[in-house]
Amino acid sequence: MMKKFAGKMLFLCFCASSLSVSAVEASNRYRSPRNPERGIRRSTELIVLHTTEAPARSSLNKLSDRGEAHYCVTEEGMIYRIVDRDREAFHAGRSMWRGREDVDKYSIGIECVGYHNKPMGPVQIAAIRDLVAELKAMYRLSDDKVVCHSHVAYGAPNKWQKRRHRGRKRCGMLFAMPSMRRALGLKARPAFDADTGAGRLSIGDDYLNKVLYGRIDTMAGRIGTPKKQAAAAARPADSGGWFSRLIGSKKTPPEAPPAAPPAAKPRPVAAVKKPPPPKISAAKPPARPAKTAISSAVPRTVAELKARGYEIKGTISKRRTAIKIAGRAWNRGDTYSLVRGKVVSGDKIDASRLGAGVSVWMKK
Ligand SMILES: [Zn+2]
Repeated sequence: MMKKFAGKMLFLCFCASSLSVSAVEASNRYRSPRNPERGIRRSTELIVLHTTEAPARSSLNKLSDRGEAHYCVTEEGMIYRIVDRDREAFHAGRSMWRGREDVDKYSIGIECVGYHNKPMGPVQIAAIRDLVAELKAMYRLSDDKVVCHSHVAYGAPNKWQKRRHRGRKRCGMLFAMPSMRRALGLKARPAFDADTGAGRLSIGDDYLNKVLYGRIDTMAGRIGTPKKQAAAAARPADSGGWFSRLIGSKKTPPEAPPAAPPAAKPRPVAAVKKPPPPKISAAKPPARPAKTAISSAVPRTVAELKARGYEIKGTISKRRTAIKIAGRAWNRGDTYSLVRGKVVSGDKIDASRLGAGVSVWMKK
């Protein structure tokens, strides 16, 4: 009996750990006071990406007041939890997908600070990508279940449109474009619109329809490459967002009450986001273009690390994340990690590689 129980526990632990590859941490600063009024969502079949079409501060206040999204991702890569992810958020409005109306009832909504037709920066894209990846894994959703608000929104008949029509808004439109999908690590998108196909809706916006299902890609060449992302992530100005997101931590922590009472909300976002930049990083900016000079200065082996006065500060485990070991310096150019025998500097490392067993090296 005990043996059977122990076996079951072991199995459960295994499942839990394989699911919790999360690297995403969200802030509760703008958690909505509407949470208690919102019902628990019965199913989660889509992740809907929005663009706020407004700056961060006003967007966060409005989203929080009205409970209009589950998460909001700022330009600095800061992720704010608005409505608890198992509850319903009112983000999709008048909506339909494959014949089913009221998409709020079966989706997660992520607001991204920005505009439907303007490129986003690499740090923000990286944060959206991480959040989407975590939610996809959590709810077992395939890439084509990550849609834009404009995929699912529809308009009622009006002066210009006699029928119910797709194209009520272009919200989140850029997230359907091939270059953006690639940057977000998404290999597929919805292939067709079943609602206009079946005549439930008419096509009210030809251009939008071409963006969602055709080849229009106005973001091509305008968004960050992985290399640029690493450099941007290491820039002190952007570091607030990255620092506050744990690396290799467990699943998104349970929804907690807001850190500050709602009255404290109007504080400028920037004031919260930016911890003072680490001294060394300020004196030595990590993103330098020179090649030959640097490559000789960069240690490539353990012996070279030791020769330069580095020692192991700690080894990453389930309980001990890179940020716990190195603090804010985890992604600095002068912090190194030994990943499968390879020395990688903090400003070059992909956070997903900072798994158990990786040693973190810092100056003595
Ligand atoms: Zn929207």
